[in-house]
Amino acid sequence: MSGSFTQPLVYFFGQGRADGTAAMKDVLGGKGAGLAEMTTLGIPVPPGFTIATNVCHSYLESRQFSPRLRGQVEHHLQRVEAATGKQFGGAEHPLLVSVRSGAPVSMPGMMETILNLGLNDATVEGMAVQSENPSFAWDSYRRFVQMYSSVVFDLPKQLFEQRLEARKRDCGATRDIDLPVTVLQALVREFKDLVKQETGKPFPDDPLSQLWGAIAAVFQSWNTRRAIDYRKLHGVPDTMGTAVNVVAMVFGNLGEDSGTGVAFTRDPSTGESRLYGEYLLNAQGEDVVSGARTPEPIASLNERMPHAYQELERTARVLERHFRDVQDLEFTIERGRLYMLQVRRAQRTGPAAVRIACEMVDERLITKEEAVARIPPKDLDQLLHPTIDQASQLDLLAVGLPASPGAACGIVVFDADKAERLGRSGQPVILVRRETSPEDFHGMVVAKAVLTARGGMTSHAAVVARGMGKPCVVGAATIDVDEANQQFTADGRSVREGEWISLDGGTGRVFAGQARLIDPALGEHFKRLMGWADDVRQLRVRVNADTPADSHRGRDFGAEGIGLCRTEHMFFEGDRLVVMREMILAQDEAGRRRALEKLLPMQRGDFEAIFRAMEGFPVTIRLLDPPLHEFLPKEDSEIVTLAGHLERPVDEIRRAVLSLQEVNPMLGLRGCRLGIVHPEITQMQTRAIFEAACAIAARRGRVMPEIMIPLTASAVEFRKQALVVRRVAEDVFNERQITVPYLLGTMIELPRAALTADELALEAQFFSFGTNDLTQTTWGLSRDDAGRFLPQYLEQGVIPSDPFQELDIPGVGKLIQMACELGRKTRPDLKLGICGEHGGEPNAVAFCDRLGMNYVSCSPFRVPIARLAAAQATLAARGTMDRTKATV
Ligand code: PEP
Ligand code: MG
Repeated sequence: MSGSFTQPLVYFFGQGRADGTAAMKDVLGGKGAGLAEMTTLGIPVPPGFTIATNVCHSYLESRQFSPRLRGQVEHHLQRVEAATGKQFGGAEHPLLVSVRSGAPVSMPGMMETILNLGLNDATVEGMAVQSENPSFAWDSYRRFVQMYSSVVFDLPKQLFEQRLEARKRDCGATRDIDLPVTVLQALVREFKDLVKQETGKPFPDDPLSQLWGAIAAVFQSWNTRRAIDYRKLHGVPDTMGTAVNVVAMVFGNLGEDSGTGVAFTRDPSTGESRLYGEYLLNAQGEDVVSGARTPEPIASLNERMPHAYQELERTARVLERHFRDVQDLEFTIERGRLYMLQVRRAQRTGPAAVRIACEMVDERLITKEEAVARIPPKDLDQLLHPTIDQASQLDLLAVGLPASPGAACGIVVFDADKAERLGRSGQPVILVRRETSPEDFHGMVVAKAVLTARGGMTSHAAVVARGMGKPCVVGAATIDVDEANQQFTADGRSVREGEWISLDGGTGRVFAGQARLIDPALGEHFKRLMGWADDVRQLRVRVNADTPADSHRGRDFGAEGIGLCRTEHMFFEGDRLVVMREMILAQDEAGRRRALEKLLPMQRGDFEAIFRAMEGFPVTIRLLDPPLHEFLPKEDSEIVTLAGHLERPVDEIRRAVLSLQEVNPMLGLRGCRLGIVHPEITQMQTRAIFEAACAIAARRGRVMPEIMIPLTASAVEFRKQALVVRRVAEDVFNERQITVPYLLGTMIELPRAALTADELALEAQFFSFGTNDLTQTTWGLSRDDAGRFLPQYLEQGVIPSDPFQELDIPGVGKLIQMACELGRKTRPDLKLGICGEHGGEPNAVAFCDRLGMNYVSCSPFRVPIARLAAAQATLAARGTMDRTKATV
């Protein structure tokens, strides 16, 4: 057994005292740390102990428990016996325990739990006498054998469910608890026989053997597929391990004066400040989350058990004030008495997170900086989610519970494996299940949205989807899901696999077909939070925009200029494509110039509109970049049509198209190479930019063009293109009798440019890092083909993440850092920015901030994410981070 001998392996809590604290999450896991802290705060928590996380890996390596661990567990078990006045395995006053996982990072529903442990044929009788409720005792025993068999012996749940359902049918019982004692006794026997038959071993009757079996199973559940998938998705290291919590049982299934539930100190969907949650009377914890029974909203508990409800409300307030954040609580009421079984930082939707942070600032619970530091930038995605256009024709199929906001359209898939396959191949899928279980997790990861027929707001589907920020509708009771035949029916209409549906996780409505989605409107809380972020951040945030519409959207999201206008995007539309093709396929320079003359007014119009949309802010325009064949016709019929348009022989066009084809177009005639080979293209584009800029300036508008040369590898290339740009600028200024200040810079997107950045900075006034190409060329990894094998690379751990999505800081980042340093050595006021996709990725934003860049630039919807990430980078550098006591 590894680990220091001075550190205990097991930590006790009970009777107002605890060996651990909330700060010891790494050792105790989230659940154990929360139980310890609540105990110390004087909140009623049943006594118990936590086996530390470091035991997990020792066990998983050796598959053995050390004598030291056994000694400590047995010692603390005796303390629990003393605290409860009960005896583990005792026939008169039997102590029963729950055995539950609890990693340092919350992994809801991913690992195992066993309740009612300690029951056997002798202790069940003690329980029956003590509770004066034999039915409860035997139902608990039945549940225990069932749960233990599936968790520890890995027997399929259905084996037990089928038998239970059959008995219920025979007796006409709707609830488990309504089964007569004799039937429950028969079921227990039947279950135990089944275990013997399936495993060849008898069900363990000795409570200590049961306990060690359960502890081993919880540790093993750290390495189930769903737990591994969850960790991968959330970036949780495999080395962390889970703790095991062994806690004295309290019973929510002792009658109508008992119950169990989950509550949030604020509404985790909207952020509204009110106790929110669900409960079930006469039930145990798994009944609430399994979706098998539909729980009641928490408010009604006030009518049924006002004392327990008020106690719960008071406890929720105490815990929220103490932890200074929204908490997610689990509780059980045993004969009218409230016990808390868990407290942890609540998972919440993006909109809720923002509202809660703002309101907590108003309540003086946290500072503005903490509010800014607290919101994961990617959570803003959910505020920026589209919604369904209500004005469009909608065909309502069903209405369920609005479990996680946002709207999505996709094709229906009923099976998680298939959803994963189709989703990974780029198809938008909506996973439809009767109810989800942790086995569906991998399908949910790739799905656009999730729909279930059963379950409540805290069901597995709801909790997991909210955590992922995915639209989700649960408990759509009018839907009948027929997973075997891959279809569902809703009010007599059937929807088969592969058909389109749309859903709105904010309203719970499900529609047939593909609805029109509209952009979200951002609320007051969002604006306040972003305002605080803007007050803090150093880094400017620009938008990548090629159209006036994108420019406006970028400005609405707070962009302070355009960091990348890809001019080639302007040529793909309508008439322009024909003229562009005429230019590319021209037989000589004169022909090319004639076509360019036609393109000039179009480009000038585009630039003027964009300058106007971004008035007062810098606009970086990149000269033509992509390989020319991207503009060429692919089909022969298109070639024939084009030949007609250009009034040239079809064969000639065919030959010209063929001659422009390249083996490696990404490394071919593109970027500044185009402008060097055909300077007239650069001349036309530059003229369009300056004529547009002069037109704005003539009307006293503020225009700040920054012209960018793409794919530069050497200072000579830059110099040659710079000469063309400067000459045209002078010409236009002379013609218009007006001068517009401008900057001339380069993209850094090839390793050679980074390596010779000091030379480039002799003439370039700014660098903008094109991390898409820089990643491609540094890794030698095609942007277009990497998707074929990157999943295997990720699977095998060759790379920690897709370098096109998350900046590879050790590799590509090193080149960026080198280029920044070399560039600024030559030109101390060199302006530095990034405009690859990574410009909106929080880790990359923090990296750019550390390098002292001037700005990041990203697509419009990522602008708010970048603003927040930039503010968090500044706060991290200042050491002002979230002071929340513990995020258990
Ligand atoms: C880049 O390479 O990062 C870049 C911004 O340019 P593009 O994606 O247009 O190649
Ligand atoms: Mg590029």
